[in-house]
Amino acid sequence: MTEIELIRRIARRAKGRAASEGLIRGIGDDCAIVRPRAGEDVLLTTDFVIEGTHFLKSAEAASVGQRALGRGLSDIAAMGGTPRWCLVSLAMPKSTPAKWVDGFYTGLLDMARAHRVALAGGDVARSAKITCDIVVAGTAPKGKALRRDTARAGDRIYVSGELGRPWDLPPEPRLKLGRYLVGRTTAAMDLSDGLSLDLHRLCLESGLAASIFFPLPVWPGVTLDRALHGGEDYELLFTAKASTPLPTQYGGVPLTWIGTMARGRPGAVTFMGRNLAPRGWDHFA
Ligand SMILES: [Mg+2]
Repeated sequence: MTEIELIRRIARRAKGRAASEGLIRGIGDDCAIVRPRAGEDVLLTTDFVIEGTHFLKSAEAASVGQRALGRGLSDIAAMGGTPRWCLVSLAMPKSTPAKWVDGFYTGLLDMARAHRVALAGGDVARSAKITCDIVVAGTAPKGKALRRDTARAGDRIYVSGELGRPWDLPPEPRLKLGRYLVGRTTAAMDLSDGLSLDLHRLCLESGLAASIFFPLPVWPGVTLDRALHGGEDYELLFTAKASTPLPTQYGGVPLTWIGTMARGRPGAVTFMGRNLAPRGWDHFA
């Protein structure tokens, strides 16, 4: 298949599937044109998905596509936003079966359609290993997006769902919950690299320390080590004032108070009174 054929094929499938509200011009031009509504900020996030680093060669193509987009959607959820458009660049060896490419786009476009995200463009190229870069753009009410750097000392720390999600389950980005949290939380992020590392990052951004002193909500049969340091939970980690009433679940997703933000060495986290090292997933560790 030539590059033009491949792009045509992807464009045809993208058109038939995704909602295109706000997409003025999609695949086929030098740039995509998108138009946010008045009173919206645009959120941008990008993620790599690389064979051998993020998935094994034996992984099912559709699940790779689903996971690739799911990570970006989870980032938009963490900001309290609504995902709208995505750009997908895929580089692969010449030997990659057409069936794999089809499977990848099937997984990706199914997830895009479920969340009303339009595939607005991308690129294709040859490379030694399958390498995908996905940009997801979303919108949030102007000035209202949830951030990591706005937690205050004394805020309660919460997590959504259960930690230690099995890796073979597709991500379920907490988009409804993220939007619900706008105006109710002081800071938020998604759990992609493990609670210990992600809470450490939230603390660093907010210039605070944190203590976890309540039991963590975990998947049945999951070890505490996995719940603290395993990645790919795609749950939300957020802080709220003690005076803000929050339900114990939202839309069937449990919301659990696990600890408190405190003044102290920025980034320092304790778990049940002991120092908790940020041991989550770090590509450069
Ligand atoms: Mg994130």
